[in-house]
Amino acid sequence: MDSFEWSLSKDDEYSVSDTRKHSDSIYLSVNGPATRCRILPRKVNDFVWQVALNRLPSRLTLSTRGLEIEFFGCVSCNGQVESMDHILFECSVALDLWLKVRVWCNIMIPEFHGWNEWLEWFDVGHTSTTSKDALFVIVVCLMWHLWQWRNDVMLNFKKMKKDYIFDSICLFLFNWLDSRSKCNVKLND
Ligand SMILES: [Zn+2]
Repeated sequence: MDSFEWSLSKDDEYSVSDTRKHSDSIYLSVNGPATRCRILPRKVNDFVWQVALNRLPSRLTLSTRGLEIEFFGCVSCNGQVESMDHILFECSVALDLWLKVRVWCNIMIPEFHGWNEWLEWFDVGHTSTTSKDALFVIVVCLMWHLWQWRNDVMLNFKKMKKDYIFDSICLFLFNWLDSRSKCNVKLND
């Protein structure tokens, strides 16, 4: 009779942590150090990891992986090719929400056209370490919501209003920063 063995752990038992360590050892070692942020929940850290490796399953990414995609357009713009950078930085929904977050946080953040551009600006270190931590969490929270919004529209046919998305971003930020961080972050009420 055929059988399977789990070879990643000493006792041959499957475990999520062994799987995670194994995948980290494959992907993170060749693409840079692990950058898990202690303030973010694990699933959001995983999301950041996917973004950093340009592995979010946008329509463009799926097609480059060999899937047959009939329509490449963004669910919001209905015309622009749906790439990861489009969803997170260039789409009209993204532009509006980036603007709202800029105003709300009272932080001078330029417009970016993609993750690498944002990261280059971020790495230069325009702010103190504490503000830098907070800024990273804020931007990730924004991107996480943009991705959730896109999935909701595409998979659940729900189109949440931008104001509601922004309210949700604020709520998530307060929860994350309050429960996991000792950062003295000032956000406007
Ligand atoms: Zn769009």
